[in-house]
Amino acid sequence: MTIIKKSSAEIEAMKEAGRLSAKVLREVGALVRPGVSTLELDQCAEELIRQEGGVPAFKGYGGFPGSICASVNEQIVHGIPSASVVLKEGDIISIDTGAIVDGWVGDNAWTFPVGTISPEKQRLLDVTEKCMWTGLEAARAGNRLGDVGHAIQAVAEAAGYGVVREYVGHGIGRNMHEEPNVPNYGHRHTGVKLEVGMVLAIEPMINMGTHKTRPMPDGWLVCTRDSKPSAHFEKTVAITEEGPVVLTTEEGHRRPV
Ligand code: MG
Repeated sequence: MTIIKKSSAEIEAMKEAGRLSAKVLREVGALVRPGVSTLELDQCAEELIRQEGGVPAFKGYGGFPGSICASVNEQIVHGIPSASVVLKEGDIISIDTGAIVDGWVGDNAWTFPVGTISPEKQRLLDVTEKCMWTGLEAARAGNRLGDVGHAIQAVAEAAGYGVVREYVGHGIGRNMHEEPNVPNYGHRHTGVKLEVGMVLAIEPMINMGTHKTRPMPDGWLVCTRDSKPSAHFEKTVAITEEGPVVLTTEEGHRRPV
């Protein structure tokens, strides 16, 4: 296993891909409403990325056809955008998108409510977002990968939710998926030691019910086994001397978690 660490100059360069990835996620998220199809959201994302000189990181990756993954309700990840998937009041939708700028990749995701959602779904979103921030906070030099996973798992399971096992976060750099895998579960003080210069995409996928998954016949989409809703939040973060720094942000990039 080779983890490609980034110099501070390389981390600076990655901020542009991160900025664009965050901007696209925000702008596409603002279009989420009842009646919109996930294909419309995808087309908007691709246009925004290309307008700013980026390349959609997902499009063509392993043959994936979209510039976003759009995963609604019980869909966990990797939903293919489609004209036939039209959002309805009360849905939740995970939008995952990334941009390549100057050869560097940014990757981020957010789960948005469609109109008014049930308190149960809102709680799932709140807890899953908290899982992400808790995991980011643990992404510090000297900690281990198991500390990140444990932190995420503890928040999710305290809320009575299931942590998806089969799909995990990842290292990121010139490639979208680099070593190491970043599980959203684990044991403290175990796994790879985190070092300054590592850049990780931390992305908890949390299910309202069972953690078990059900891959769908298109070869991409993954749903919950029990058809209960799932949420997904992701940011790309650099491990620096000053602590974790989120790269997928429009806010000047400097803010440690
Ligand atoms: Mg990712």
